[in-house]
Amino acid sequence: MASIFSRIVEGEIPARTVYEDETTMAFLDANPLAPGHTLVIPKEEYERLNDLPEGLASDLYDTLHRLIPAVEDAVDAPASNVAFNNGEAAGQEVPHVHGHIIPRFEDDGGNPIHAIAGSPPDLADDELDDIAERISANNQA
Ligand code: 5GP
Repeated sequence: MASIFSRIVEGEIPARTVYEDETTMAFLDANPLAPGHTLVIPKEEYERLNDLPEGLASDLYDTLHRLIPAVEDAVDAPASNVAFNNGEAAGQEVPHVHGHIIPRFEDDGGNPIHAIAGSPPDLADDELDDIAERISANNQA
């Protein structure tokens, strides 16, 4: 079944669209965490960031890049958090890649991205070395 965001792309569900091109689209979040909270999506449906083909990943980043200042300026925000919930365990509810642009304001009571995860792990140096080596090896595979 098509995701709720694919239905927005098809015009079956209304949205406050703020940008659209051939491959990407952006619209206001229906339950904004701040004024201007915007979602940026690839029009084609992929669940995770790493599922996106290379060209589409670049298109998505280009759209984020141009919309961040547009969103911040529209609501006079001095900053924003830009984030993806990438997978269900990370809190992704809609299985169609979407970047959140959440405008932030001085003293808005919110938190930095460091507040997302649970208790920070206590990792020994050799564990950190091992993790770094595995990431590097996976990237070369
Ligand atoms: P997630 O947790 O998957 O990263 O975030 C999904 C986001 O989509 C939520 O912030 C939610 O408010 C937003 N959302 C869910 N359904 C709709 C919808 O039909 N229209 C719009 N504009 N946003 C939606």
